[in-house]
Amino acid sequence: MLTYHIITLFPDMIRAYTDASIVGRAQERKKISVKVYNPRDFTRDKHKRIDGRPYGGGPGMVMQTEPILKAVKKALGNKKGKKVKIIMLSPNGKQFTNKTALSFSKKYTDIIFIAGRYEGIDARAKKILKAEEWSSGPYIVTGGELPALVMVDAITRQISGVLGEDLSVEEKRIAGKEVYTRPETFVYAGKKYSVPKVLRSGHHEKIDQFRKK
Ligand code: SAM
Repeated sequence: MLTYHIITLFPDMIRAYTDASIVGRAQERKKISVKVYNPRDFTRDKHKRIDGRPYGGGPGMVMQTEPILKAVKKALGNKKGKKVKIIMLSPNGKQFTNKTALSFSKKYTDIIFIAGRYEGIDARAKKILKAEEWSSGPYIVTGGELPALVMVDAITRQISGVLGEDLSVEEKRIAGKEVYTRPETFVYAGKKYSVPKVLRSGHHEKIDQFRKK
């Protein structure tokens, strides 16, 4: 079983997604497990603050090192027999792809995602943890939660049995760029939009060729 550990200031955002649909079912089937840790639970500050102003000035706040390290320590627990990967979500990180998802699904028993907020996380956390920075894409979102969820979802789909009996075949067969369902002909503003004939032919080879185009 692959365990995802997600360190985030917004645990509810994570659960709202991971408890539903395919990722939710993968948990029920014990293919994966999702654990969430809030850095605020690991701060010594009596007001539960986990951020501070950036050295050198500049806008925004920076997440402090210590609560992140403590949350990771908690996530790691007893490392015996585990193959752990620590990922820091960052728009400056390596570009995550489906290939990455497949490789991570095979290599690790535990993946720790550290979701930044504000202006990001104190650089020392990354150094101490020897974490790798990964990006979900060439844009900046408000926090690392969505990128982490994108990765969790993509990795989970690569685990055998998650998409049903025939994972790889199913993934490839559905991978057409255009998909259609009923009705066969849809009329909109007086114009007819029909499902391509080949998809109605029942000829699997031709259907696969059409989808590859
Ligand atoms: N100026 C900051 C920077 O360049 O890293 C922007 C920080 S962003 C507003 C807050 C957090 O969102 C980041 O620390 C990171 O965890 C996450 N984030 C934003 N865009 C991301 C992306 N494309 N991929 C992964 N994480 C991202």
